[in-house]
Amino acid sequence: MGFLARPEGRYSHSLKVFGSGAEVTGMLWDLYQEFGIQNNRNRLRHAENDQAETRGQAQDLAAQMQERFDRTVLINEAMWQLLSERVGLTDEQLARRVYELDMSDGLADGRRISQPVECECGAMVNAKSRVCLFCGAAAPARPFFDAV
Ligand SMILES: [Zn+2]
Repeated sequence: MGFLARPEGRYSHSLKVFGSGAEVTGMLWDLYQEFGIQNNRNRLRHAENDQAETRGQAQDLAAQMQERFDRTVLINEAMWQLLSERVGLTDEQLARRVYELDMSDGLADGRRISQPVECECGAMVNAKSRVCLFCGAAAPARPFFDAV
């Protein structure tokens, strides 16, 4: 040994403990890969938990909306019965009006889509706008339910 010993001697001793350079590199690569796999498994588990939570929230929201919809239909039916009893309107008259409203946008699709109306400047203003986007004038008057 002594000061004439080459530094490589120490390294080659170490390499005998850990294996060749290629083996060490391979081991490090395997560790790196294992770490990456574990990291991805953790991410997947978190993503699955998030997805389950989101699914649960969506189901709760759908159940709430169904409940509100059912209650709205119930209230509508009660209002219709009161109106029918007090004013004498018939179910046939109601059905005819529903059909007329449905067809007012040109399609019998169970809904009425509000059509744009023409502003005094000539631009078309959609149902949800309160002002004309071109001239700034107040939107033309339209049926109450167009804004609902
Ligand atoms: Zn305008």
